[in-house]
Amino acid sequence: MRGDIFYPDIFDPGINLSCLHIGGEIRKGMILLSRLVWMSVVCVLATVTSLRAVAQVPVKLVVRNAYIFSMAASEREPFTGYIAVGADGRIIAVGKGELPASLKAATVWDAKGHWVIPGFISAHSHPWQSAYRGLAADKTLLGWIDELYGKAVTKATAEDLYWFTLEGSLDHLRHGVTSAYNFNYGGHTPEQAVAFDEQEFRAQMDSGTRFVFGIEPGRVTATYGLDDARQRLNTFLGWVAIQQASKDPQTRSRLLSVMINGGTAFNDTPKQAVMEAALMKEFDLGNQSHYLEQPETQGEDRQMFQWFTDAGLVTDRMIFGHFIHTDAAIIAATAKAGAAMSWNPLSNGRLASGIADIPAYLKAGVRVGMGVDGEASADLADPFENLRTGLYAIRDKYENAGVMNPYDVLKLHTVGSADVLGVTDRLGSLEKGKLADFLVIDPSEYGHVFDPYATLVFVTSQPDLERVYVGGELKVERGKLMDQDLDHIEREVNTRVAARSTP
Ligand SMILES: [Zn+2]
Repeated sequence: MRGDIFYPDIFDPGINLSCLHIGGEIRKGMILLSRLVWMSVVCVLATVTSLRAVAQVPVKLVVRNAYIFSMAASEREPFTGYIAVGADGRIIAVGKGELPASLKAATVWDAKGHWVIPGFISAHSHPWQSAYRGLAADKTLLGWIDELYGKAVTKATAEDLYWFTLEGSLDHLRHGVTSAYNFNYGGHTPEQAVAFDEQEFRAQMDSGTRFVFGIEPGRVTATYGLDDARQRLNTFLGWVAIQQASKDPQTRSRLLSVMINGGTAFNDTPKQAVMEAALMKEFDLGNQSHYLEQPETQGEDRQMFQWFTDAGLVTDRMIFGHFIHTDAAIIAATAKAGAAMSWNPLSNGRLASGIADIPAYLKAGVRVGMGVDGEASADLADPFENLRTGLYAIRDKYENAGVMNPYDVLKLHTVGSADVLGVTDRLGSLEKGKLADFLVIDPSEYGHVFDPYATLVFVTSQPDLERVYVGGELKVERGKLMDQDLDHIEREVNTRVAARSTP
């Protein structure tokens, strides 16, 4: 089990061992108080959930008569069958035909042959950016950054970021993205970071989506360094541990992990990479770093690869965001280290950033996930558009329609993204023991289906999305959020953006 997985799997018999191990660490007397709180919570939860595993998990929901694309490695052919979900939000059983008579569910829903796929995972998102859709329409990345980070967001408050992040996360959910790596905005000064992080964390929890909380460690300068970053992470992680003490397993399972939003390529000193490597080791965190996105500075940016490798950042805990303007040596070193990348075709197309050579990465052994990026550069968080945009870009690049097929690209946005984020034990495919995050798609306007994966990827749009489930809980039906007032949230966002825009 990787260190960035905080919550025990009730099916994991090894959990008591890790609990004892953590307990031993605590007895040794940790200096870092907040880490202690964090670990104690994990320890208590592990004990509680291990005991619960002995009792039979009651069936909360059965979806029957569904045409299931499980995306499990051994199950390429879709089939008609059922999914049973336990009270803890995990899949108890998924199978062909009718469900066994022994499974008695509180709710049985007949899908009437409609299609079921895993919830999409965005390996790269900035949900707060949904407040700034359509911004800098004719700019490439660097000009767009000036508009967004240099002007638009400069007056926003931490509370504004709550509403922006909530809206963006719900936009993800309404489009079928049930989990995302979220790059959070760390405020305008280091002193504001914790207030912003806390508001954005609350928004993601309130949205009901699952998320990796990407945290800005701060930028190394003459007056800011490792001690400051350590203090910032300690404060935030201690606070998160307290938030995570909920008795509800659904609530606890929303935070998938915390990772560092890497800034090596945005600093003019290798000290940034060194600081991040130290934080990753000390707090046992992964890292996603935007790298080789824009074409303009690609030569000098490739030189920075040495900073990543020298600091020890290129490992299986590193995800390179975008990673377009690579070369053979960078690809080979990334693959050899087991490092990953996140592919964001909608955003890359909008900003004219270029086309990542995904077939070459996969062939070399680089792990690839897909992201919808922020809604200020991919202006709707729509994974169906993202699949098509990506697939078509690759086919255009190669002038070859056989270079990538619909199944391959769908796999990258589900299983691939789960792998990149280190959560394949919980997400990515519909299999027993995983979290019951799935989408129901109404195929009634599809016409004749020649090839289910081709129809799914080429034809489906958000209006076909009938239901979105997270942990077996219905979150969206026909575009309508079940437990959120989207009109109210949008009014808040619009009022706040307008108020900060006046000179
Ligand atoms: Zn990004």
